[in-house]
Amino acid sequence: MDAALALVVFAPALALGSFLNVVAARLPDGRSLVRPRSACGACEKEIAWYDNIPVVSYFLLRGRCRSCGASFSARYPAVEIATALLVAACFWHFGLTGEAVVGAYFCAALVVSLLQGRERGEALARARAAEAIAASWPGAQPSLPTAVELKEILAR
Ligand SMILES: [Zn+2]
Repeated sequence: MDAALALVVFAPALALGSFLNVVAARLPDGRSLVRPRSACGACEKEIAWYDNIPVVSYFLLRGRCRSCGASFSARYPAVEIATALLVAACFWHFGLTGEAVVGAYFCAALVVSLLQGRERGEALARARAAEAIAASWPGAQPSLPTAVELKEILAR
């Protein structure tokens, strides 16, 4: 249990959540994840970096575009917060370890899968696989799932 580490990880994890919003929106269409920069869906004006700070900008601008006032979905800050909580929880639970990184990776994959709104079964399978991988890491609790169970989960 490492609450201090979880706190340190929280802000970068919000940024990761912000990136996952982009991934979920662009990946299915095969669009670039880096260019163009995020833009308002209504006026198409690029969103400045200072208006694109996870959670903070959303609340400062009351969820609206600075140039045209169109409202942005509350899903964006929700995903950022959810991602940050999941990732922070991984580091809280596992400390600064490989398990935490693997857990965070699968949490991120889970968030993207859920955002894409399809293959929920697959998303849940990935989450279970993430649990199993973390648990089968050397030094993990012996009562948790083993590598054999992991293989079964991945084979489903
Ligand atoms: Zn706009």
